[in-house]
Amino acid sequence: MSLKVIALGTGVCTNGCTPGADRQPPGFLFDYNGNLLLIDASEGIRFRINEAGYDYGKVAHLALSHVHPDHCALPQFLQAKLCRVLWGGATDGMEKIKIFMHEGSAEGFTQVWNWHHPEAGGKLNHFPDKFNFEIQAIRGGWSEEIFPGFTIKAFGVYHGFGQHPALGFRIECQDGVVVYTGDAGITDSLFDQITSADLLIADCGVRIGQEYTAGYGHMGPSQVGMLAMRGQVKELWLTHYTGLDSPEAMIHEVRNAGYSSGECKVATDKLIWSK
Ligand SMILES: [Zn+2]
Ligand SMILES: [Zn+2]
Repeated sequence: MSLKVIALGTGVCTNGCTPGADRQPPGFLFDYNGNLLLIDASEGIRFRINEAGYDYGKVAHLALSHVHPDHCALPQFLQAKLCRVLWGGATDGMEKIKIFMHEGSAEGFTQVWNWHHPEAGGKLNHFPDKFNFEIQAIRGGWSEEIFPGFTIKAFGVYHGFGQHPALGFRIECQDGVVVYTGDAGITDSLFDQITSADLLIADCGVRIGQEYTAGYGHMGPSQVGMLAMRGQVKELWLTHYTGLDSPEAMIHEVRNAGYSSGECKVATDKLIWSK
């Protein structure tokens, strides 16, 4: 049994205005004994999946934390998967994908798809004998064993002034527990969800010294540090940070907030955790 988590995108919604190398927008690939789960599908995610040594055609499970454009370029991903089969032929599992999405966002997706494909006459699956996708509407509290011994649980988070339907995910399998906060402001509920995680991947979209509660709904390094300390997580990745603060300063903030028991990484693209 083995679990591998690959950071495909640790960046934000823009680039070109911060020092350091560009980081791609969010996406994390979970490989559990060859079974693939993608969390978040930002622009160009298929290229990064393939660069990591996989075939995006074989990603048959996708969970979206929320549908802000930096996390969700779903029509592009689905179109690519469809044409991957039409032109390349289907091999194992390429003929379908299940997409887990907040029920508050799932409602509107048909309109988005029809906007891209008015010629399809309102049908979601244009070539049902070749490729099918299924949107499964979920909410906080939902969980499913998507592979034998591998369970994904969703929990509601505060984001977009509390108005954007947004989720975090807790992955549990015998190799460990991995929690991804998605885009999330600090709330009490987060503390329950991250308990005893082997790896916590935490939104750190707020700059040092600018942390807030409520507001738009992202965390800063000191809040993430406090969260990791209280949850006693074994390893912490800061992700979705702007790059305007130095990695050293961010880690200093995390440690100052009390997280001393585990490893802390300011995540960059292609970072891998495995067990
Ligand atoms: Zn967002
Ligand atoms: Zn975001």
